[in-house]
Amino acid sequence: MTKLQWDHDSIDGLLGQTRELAADFLKTLPHRPVGPRCTPEELRSAIPRDVPSGGEDPRQVIGRLAASADPGLMASAGPRFFGYVIGGSLPVALAADWLTAAWDQNCGLYSATPATSVIEEATAAMLLELFGLPSSCSVGFVTGGQMANFTALAAARHRVLLDGGWNVEEEGLGGAPPVTVICGAEAHATILTSLRMLGFGTRDVRLVACDEQGRMRPGELEKVIAGAGAPLIVCSQVGNVNSGAIDPIADIAGITRPKNAWLHVDGAFGLWARVSAERAGMLAGIELASSWATDAHKWLNVPYDSGVAICADRAAHSGAMSARADYLIQSSTERDPIDWTPELSRRARSVPIYAAIRALGRSGIASLVDRTCDLAARFARLLSQEPGVEILNDVVLNQVLVRFRGADDAANDEITRNVVQRVQQEGTCWLSGTVWQGMHAMRISVCNWSTTEEDVDVSAAAVVRCYRDVIGGRRG
Ligand SMILES: *Cc1c(COP(=O)(O)O)cnc(C)c1O
Repeated sequence: MTKLQWDHDSIDGLLGQTRELAADFLKTLPHRPVGPRCTPEELRSAIPRDVPSGGEDPRQVIGRLAASADPGLMASAGPRFFGYVIGGSLPVALAADWLTAAWDQNCGLYSATPATSVIEEATAAMLLELFGLPSSCSVGFVTGGQMANFTALAAARHRVLLDGGWNVEEEGLGGAPPVTVICGAEAHATILTSLRMLGFGTRDVRLVACDEQGRMRPGELEKVIAGAGAPLIVCSQVGNVNSGAIDPIADIAGITRPKNAWLHVDGAFGLWARVSAERAGMLAGIELASSWATDAHKWLNVPYDSGVAICADRAAHSGAMSARADYLIQSSTERDPIDWTPELSRRARSVPIYAAIRALGRSGIASLVDRTCDLAARFARLLSQEPGVEILNDVVLNQVLVRFRGADDAANDEITRNVVQRVQQEGTCWLSGTVWQGMHAMRISVCNWSTTEEDVDVSAAAVVRCYRDVIGGRRG
């Protein structure tokens, strides 16, 4: 039998072996050291890069792949990973992702795959309902927050220029009326890369000062916007990547609407707080925006990669995104996924989102959000009991910023950096560092469905131990 001839038994065998390897990996997640345990050299020697002339046995390929990757894997899908803003995979979302890979549908066109096009449509409707956004909004399923911001801002560019009599898709940006772009000073890096890719120079972006939590100050926005007129784009955010802070969207919309500005909201994780009855109030007025970007691979806990771009202005969204070619059979009556994303061919990434929402329901998603926020507050409370440990932010969502003090303030940056590094090496949990308002800080993000109070307790104890070691080491 050659490599390209498979019978059902051998496919079953290979997939069965893979299922076992995956299940074994998942079983290790709650116990293994969270950080990777190997050097780049060890990984390179375990992962050969010569092209095998005759090919290798597929079962061996998979077996070796799993074994050689293992020490270099981060247990980011596990309960004690608190780095960046990551989230794991709900078992039901992982299962749906496997199915998506097995189906291998090219999800660009309705004509190429009616089933996943309709699943996309259904998922879009459920997302809009969950976020309390108008059901008339358009939705595109992209790879992540970066592409969601890009897609929404491309729609913004389309609309604000078209309103000024300029068709940017046909005429380009050369000679176009200058667009004023205003962002909060705490805008996520992907807002700036999106603007860059859209032909807006980041040097021209006008920044609005934020308060000590990282929220855009409406009074400052008023000053910045005063001299500006259409075409005008304003970028706000719900869920600062460090502090979790939420811009006062209702106030901001009150300022941008009379100016006829396109108001974009980057809600990569924060938008999900809208599903929690307890926390939705912080996002009041969110429905007044023109577009929203969010991730499903963060707080909803679906596998990578999965982001969502939402626009109130459907025509602007498809005007910026849709592609036409004679060989593509596009539907006159059904929704073609390619009209809402930069990609043409792509995986049906709405399927795991669909499965996650069906399995959790509104109450399950709300409790995922509430539980992780409560765990973040617990983390902050435990750490703040240790003398010399300071929580820098109001823990309004799932993010905690921590600063570690030594005998003199001058050393706090270094101590904080060293504590982060030591915790990463120690292995009980994994978290990362940042610079917050000029100070080094440890950042903790709780967004995994499987994290328990006990995970937080042992992780906080490990952080305190590492802190004591660092300052003990300095004294000794
Ligand atoms: C994570 C994040 C992004 C980027 O999302 P990706 O999925 O990593 O591309 C954008 N904005 C905010 C606020 C984020 O937290």
